[in-house]
Amino acid sequence: MNNKPISRRRFVRAVATGASGLALGNKLSALGGPAEPLRIIEPFHGAVLNRRVGEEVPGGLKIRVVGEASVRDRVTVNGGLAHREGQRFAAEVVLRRKETTITAMADGAFGQRQHQVRVLWDRYSQPRYRFSIDDNSFFLRDIFQKQYGSLFDCFYLKLLRDLHAQYGTRFVLNIYYTTRDGFDLSQFPDRYRGEWKDNADWLKLSFHAYANEPDRPYQNVPAEKLVADWDKVTEQIVRFAGKSVYSPPTVIHWAMVELAALRVLHERGVRVLSGYFRLSNGGWDINYRLDDERSEYLSRHDALMDFDNGIVFSKVDLICNNTQVADIAPTLEKLAGDPNQAEIMDLFTHEQYFWPFYPQHVADHGQRLDTAIRWVTEHGYKPVFFHEGFLGGKT
Ligand SMILES: [Zn+2]
Repeated sequence: MNNKPISRRRFVRAVATGASGLALGNKLSALGGPAEPLRIIEPFHGAVLNRRVGEEVPGGLKIRVVGEASVRDRVTVNGGLAHREGQRFAAEVVLRRKETTITAMADGAFGQRQHQVRVLWDRYSQPRYRFSIDDNSFFLRDIFQKQYGSLFDCFYLKLLRDLHAQYGTRFVLNIYYTTRDGFDLSQFPDRYRGEWKDNADWLKLSFHAYANEPDRPYQNVPAEKLVADWDKVTEQIVRFAGKSVYSPPTVIHWAMVELAALRVLHERGVRVLSGYFRLSNGGWDINYRLDDERSEYLSRHDALMDFDNGIVFSKVDLICNNTQVADIAPTLEKLAGDPNQAEIMDLFTHEQYFWPFYPQHVADHGQRLDTAIRWVTEHGYKPVFFHEGFLGGKT
């Protein structure tokens, strides 16, 4: 084996980012010069594929593999000869297992080279939606202060319960430890444990952050800080609500963590993380600090597997506090019309906009949730929790 510059660069980049393909040590080698391309363009490394982007065949999903290689090269994909047109190559591969490695092999005057990607087949995929609410703290303070007879005497939880009763929606509330005005979770009474437990099939609590401020609390801090805050919140959820109410986080405050934290999150049960994966001021943001290639991919796909850390990233599809009632159906219709974004609706909002005392209070926030949930329900999407199964679906 002989690693010439292009191969070495690709190898290093793959190790550093996990983005451009599989790094398999000295198996990934090149004998061409830097100007000789060899790259699988589609599917993307880490792609989550379902029947919308391939053809179902007995026991498998047939997908198209597209890439580029030197026009002189003979290219095979998983052993089958690829069709060539200029630098492009194309081939069909049938996925038969949950994970498949796709290998493009180029043979030519400069020797033999290969490029690999790995993809997931979401075999039992069904249209589904999840509803996650971030930045929760005020409702817990409200219940603590008012000492209601029932959790659902708090208008916010009542609104969520009404939506659940009408549509079967499942909600995950991502919570803070403290509101920083004298209230923290250690004060929350445990006398509602029975009610929490009775509703645990549709209402979960999860860690989000220690508090609303500072912004981006875990963007540049070691995983130990994140884990310590997580434990503090989880201990209280289990104390006042019970284990059945707790779920591992699927959204960390600001969706920004150190890359090294992803492995720690996985070790502690995280399998899915949602973010915006949006371009802002010339850079990709709210993206768990993923590299540009993966962030851009996620900005136009439902999900992407990070094989290095065992975490699937999901793109948030709708932020109710930012979306007017009239814009909700058109937003969802556009997503449903795109095979890459139609299968999983990641619905989302923030608690604070429900509260009249909050300066940016959204008076029709509840109506926005109802509009979004009614739309997905009427279009055949089933309510799921992302922490269950594969992105809420059967595995
Ligand atoms: Zn947040």
